Amino acid sequence: MALELRGPPVRSPAERLANATIADQFAQTYPLDFDLKARSSPWFDPGRARNDAFFRALWFADRQAAEASLVQVAAPRLGNVIYSVTAKRNVACQLATVLDALSNAPEDLSYIFASAAGGFNWRLIAGTDRLSAHSFGIAVDVNAEIGQYWKWTGAPEGRVGAYHNRIPPHVVQAFERYGFIWGGKWHHFDGMHFEYRPELILHARLVEGGRH
Ligand SMILES: [Zn+2]
Repeated sequence: MALELRGPPVRSPAERLANATIADQFAQTYPLDFDLKARSSPWFDPGRARNDAFFRALWFADRQAAEASLVQVAAPRLGNVIYSVTAKRNVACQLATVLDALSNAPEDLSYIFASAAGGFNWRLIAGTDRLSAHSFGIAVDVNAEIGQYWKWTGAPEGRVGAYHNRIPPHVVQAFERYGFIWGGKWHHFDGMHFEYRPELILHARLVEGGRH
């Protein structure tokens, strides 16, 4: 009888995304450099894989619990944007610090936040049965027209083309400094989306050996 050695089942990128393990969350290193070339590699979406059970345990199991934790973070000098986010684990505080820093930038950045309303929203990601990071009050969207979203290009999954970014690098870096990753670095780009994932920023710093 032949001995058959079997490793873990090989899953497609789409399957990994649909049913991510906690290890999958760290499988791709979030690039701290402002390098939009990395995203040309199909399915390079560091931070997009989320283990649903893990997120529900870490943040909130249901909408009511999430709603009870919400606070509003306002930035009068950024087009009067107001975001509803969770106060849990200092998320609101970190966001307020980012918006303060951007409010004090030499140039007027209010255009980036114009018509932005996306903070807390308990919902599934469009076309999936996975909860959006907005459900936990840990994500904010800036101006959708400035930020852009891969699905609006009509590209099929795994074959998204160029992303013509209009968000200044220093804005992205301000978010990253306080623990938020940016969806503009994903192959399936979501350039309006910032999400509180300090573990991925820390992981990237460790992997990159202290360059940042
Ligand atoms: Zn978003």
